[in-house]
Amino acid sequence: MTLRKLTFWSAAIVFPLPLILTYDSVATAPGPLKFYIFLGLIAYTWWLLSIVLSVRSAWLHRFVGLPSIYGLHGMLGVLAVGAAYLHREYSYSPSQLARDLGDWGFYVALAVLCFSVFFMSGWLVDRSRLLQSVKQLLEVAVRHQISLWIHRLNLVVVAMIWLHAHLLVRVNQYFSFMVLFDLYTLMAFGVYVWKKWIAPETYVAGAVTSNDACGEATRRISVGLDSKAENIQPGDFFFLSFEGAASVGREWHPFSVTDDDKKTVTFTIRQHGDFTRRLGGVEVGDRVRLEGPFGRFESIIQGSDDETPLVLIGMGAGVAPLLSLAAAHHKTREIHLLWIVRTPEDAYYRDVIEEYRTASDGRMQVTINVGRLRREDFTSTVSAEQLAKSAFFVVGPNPAVLANQRLLRRLGVSARRIHQERLTM
Ligand SMILES: Cc1cc2nc3c(=O)[nH]c(=O)nc-3n(C[C@H](O)[C@H](O)[C@H](O)COP(=O)(O)OP(=O)(O)OC[C@H]3O[C@@H](n4cnc5c(N)ncnc54)[C@H](O)[C@@H]3O)c2cc1C
Repeated sequence: MTLRKLTFWSAAIVFPLPLILTYDSVATAPGPLKFYIFLGLIAYTWWLLSIVLSVRSAWLHRFVGLPSIYGLHGMLGVLAVGAAYLHREYSYSPSQLARDLGDWGFYVALAVLCFSVFFMSGWLVDRSRLLQSVKQLLEVAVRHQISLWIHRLNLVVVAMIWLHAHLLVRVNQYFSFMVLFDLYTLMAFGVYVWKKWIAPETYVAGAVTSNDACGEATRRISVGLDSKAENIQPGDFFFLSFEGAASVGREWHPFSVTDDDKKTVTFTIRQHGDFTRRLGGVEVGDRVRLEGPFGRFESIIQGSDDETPLVLIGMGAGVAPLLSLAAAHHKTREIHLLWIVRTPEDAYYRDVIEEYRTASDGRMQVTINVGRLRREDFTSTVSAEQLAKSAFFVVGPNPAVLANQRLLRRLGVSARRIHQERLTM
């Protein structure tokens, strides 16, 4: 684990401390009871920290990356329910309303946790084909947007626990503690409200300049930005909201930039779900808001040796951020781009890739494969030298990324040289 990640994860330990130390210094509850109250405070502050992490802060993202942020967000959700369970089992209160609020807060948090682990985390589903199929079946009714609303019930849980604490004589009699307790809550909700309702007005915006079909189920959508986005790096992605296209809806979805243009950004979008299938209805001139950019591929490349070859493995639309890396580096780096597609018609970027390859002066090698790469295909395509020296960038649907990651590990590539982006969150 890198020092950055360690620093980031240590926030989970540091964040509850001021509240716990303040309570410890003012309260006179018996020792064992105090300990279980601490656990309640830890659960509460972890839920608050989860809310703060859920807003996808751009600077935090550049520091550790979105997967780490969502990783800690999810882990805090699990640990908070564990701490809340012990708090609920072993502490007591004379107020019936406080007990009911605590109990119901716990049940709702537990139910939302189980739901989110299955529908939103990929922790189970990405590792089992059976669960993956069950999820796909259920997603006909439980769309991602519905999952998001169910997940937001955690805000109601926090409100219930806030009230629960305010009703408990064992805590509400300590003024300085309650002020700090309310400041924590206000800060977390303040960050959330700012991010949801105020920050979007400051995001980059633009208008659609083209929307073309590529093959049977993919679209290439370009957006001319109102002003050049100097901070975009190759391989980055944005969350997009098509504000002007009534038929599409304004929900936010993440898509990767496909080339290295900072004024007109192009996205390659596979149409497989409710939202992406409606994208044919987006018209030239429709307004788009873009939250971001996010992404760490370019900073990883910049941090590596100039001589390190890059092996870019893209599955389907997962080629998008890799094409953007290829656009930026084909004249200076040794690159092997492997694009895995379902049918020959899905290889809609052959011409663009050929252009990069021709301009690369022999530095860029390309393999387009119909169907997944088995071990023997892999070893006959990627040279022993590339396996030994390269940095690998793997992008695609979660199960495919995990399968490729396992294959690379079995072929002797160290985890440190494998960087991946999964197309679901
Ligand atoms: C970092 C990142 C980069 C991506 N880049 C691309 C790209 O360049 N091209 C491309 O075709 N796809 C990309 N995706 C995937 C794309 O965001 C989803 O396919 C799309 O949001 C699915 O929406 P849907 O409603 O059509 O499908 P659904 O069938 O509703 O969803 C399919 C799956 O996509 C995920 N998903 C759905 N909505 C969202 C959302 N709002 N936010 C996050 N995940 C969601 C869920 O895990 C869901 O299981 C990327 C995803 C991520 C996380």
